[in-house]
Amino acid sequence: MKIEILSRLSPARIRQVRFGALALALSGAAFGTLGVVGPESVPSAPVSQALSLAGSAVISIGEEDRGVFREERIQRGDTLASILERLGVDDQAAFQYLRSNPAARVLSNNLRPGKTIRAETGSDGEFVSLSYAVSPTEILKVAKDDNGFTAAKTEIPLDKRVHMKAAEIRHSLFASADAIGLPDSVTMQVAEIFSGDIDFHKDIRRGDRFRVVYEMLYHEGEFIRAGRVLAVEFVNNGKTFAAVWYESPDSKDVSGYFTPDGKNLRKAFLRSPLEFSRVTSGFGGRMHPIFQTWKQHTGVDYAAPAGTRIRAVADGVVEFSGKQGGYGNAVVIRHQGQYSTLYAHMSGFGPGVTKGARISQGDTVGFVGQTGWATGPHLHYEFRVASVAVNPLTIALPAALPLEERHLADFRLRAQPSMTRITMMRTTAQFAALD
Ligand SMILES: [Zn+2]
Repeated sequence: MKIEILSRLSPARIRQVRFGALALALSGAAFGTLGVVGPESVPSAPVSQALSLAGSAVISIGEEDRGVFREERIQRGDTLASILERLGVDDQAAFQYLRSNPAARVLSNNLRPGKTIRAETGSDGEFVSLSYAVSPTEILKVAKDDNGFTAAKTEIPLDKRVHMKAAEIRHSLFASADAIGLPDSVTMQVAEIFSGDIDFHKDIRRGDRFRVVYEMLYHEGEFIRAGRVLAVEFVNNGKTFAAVWYESPDSKDVSGYFTPDGKNLRKAFLRSPLEFSRVTSGFGGRMHPIFQTWKQHTGVDYAAPAGTRIRAVADGVVEFSGKQGGYGNAVVIRHQGQYSTLYAHMSGFGPGVTKGARISQGDTVGFVGQTGWATGPHLHYEFRVASVAVNPLTIALPAALPLEERHLADFRLRAQPSMTRITMMRTTAQFAALD
C-alpha cells in the first residue's frame, strides 16, 4: 500500500520522503538526548539544526487509500494559495472556505515564516484536514467530512522538557543570558523571583553568577515556548540566593517560589518599583540607572525611558495622587505598619490611582516622565518609615510567611530533583559560560 502511493509521486517527491525520514530520525535522536536530565541536556543547538533539516519534507504516507500527509514550513512571502499548493491541496472549495470562514481565516491571518503547517489530502489532492498552531497556546484544526467543513481551535498539548543553564555576568544580565541562549522570559522570571531580595537595576555586579533549571515546552517535537523556572540560584555580590518552585498537590493556594528550606521568596515589598526588562536594564548598557546618589537627596532615582511602567512595591492605600511642586505628578502610598512610598516626576497615573484607592503589590502606579524638577525622564522613589525617608536599597524589608509545617515534607521531596540539578551545575566547571 505504501509503495503504491509512493509510485504515484514524482521522483523528487520520493527523495523528499526519504530525506524526511532521515531528518525525523535525526531530530528524534537529538530529542532523545535532550530528554535525559544531565549535563548533556544543556546545549539546545542540535535541536534547531535537526528541525531545519526536517523542514519542507513529506513526513509520512498514509496507510489508507486516501490519506497523504504532508508537512510544510511557511516561507517568507507565502500566501494561503502558495502554501496549499506546496501541501498538495488541490481543492477550490477548501481554498474558499479557508479564505472566507471567520474561524478558518485565522490561518491566513497568521502565516508566520518558519512555522509548520500540516495537511492531509486524498490521493487526487482533495482536502481532508489541516492543522496549524495559530498561537503559542492554540492549534487550529480544519476538516472536511460528509457534512462539509469545520474549523475549531483547541489548546495545544505541550510536552515539558527540563533544561539547565549557568552563566557568569560580565556586562549585564541580558548579555549573559543571550550568550548562553537563555530565553528572555526565563531571564525575566529570574528577576521577578528575586524581586524582593535583589534590585536588578542597581545591585547587579560583574562576576555575579546564576544557575537556572527551567521548562521548555514542545508540541510534537517542535519548540513552542519557554515554560516555568523550576529552580534558580543567584550569587549577587558574594551573597547566594536560591529559589525553587513548589505547588502543593493538596492546595493550589500553596504555590510559589521558596528558599530550599521552605522560606517564602515573596516579600511584602519589592526591591524596585521598576520591572526589570531589556529596556530598563542599565548596568553596563546604554543607560546608567543612577545619576544621583542617596547622599544627595532623600530618594533613589531610576533613569528609564519615558512611559516605562511604575509598579507599587507593596499593598496599600493611595494617600496622595496629583501634582506636588518639584515632584511633579506624584503618588504616595501608605502600606502596612509605618511604611509609605512616594513616586515622582511621572508622565501620568495608573488607572484608578486616586486618593483612598486600594492598591496591590505590582499594580501600575503611573509611568516614568519628567514633570516637576527633573532634567530627564526618571523615577524619583522615596521609602519612608514613620514619615522619615530612609534608603530603600539598604533597609531590611518584612517577608511573607514561610511554608507551613504540614507542607514541608512534601516540599522537600518535590524540590529535591531541581535542587540536585543546581548542585550539579555548581560542581561542573564547563557551565561557566563566557559572554
Ligand atoms: Zn530624585
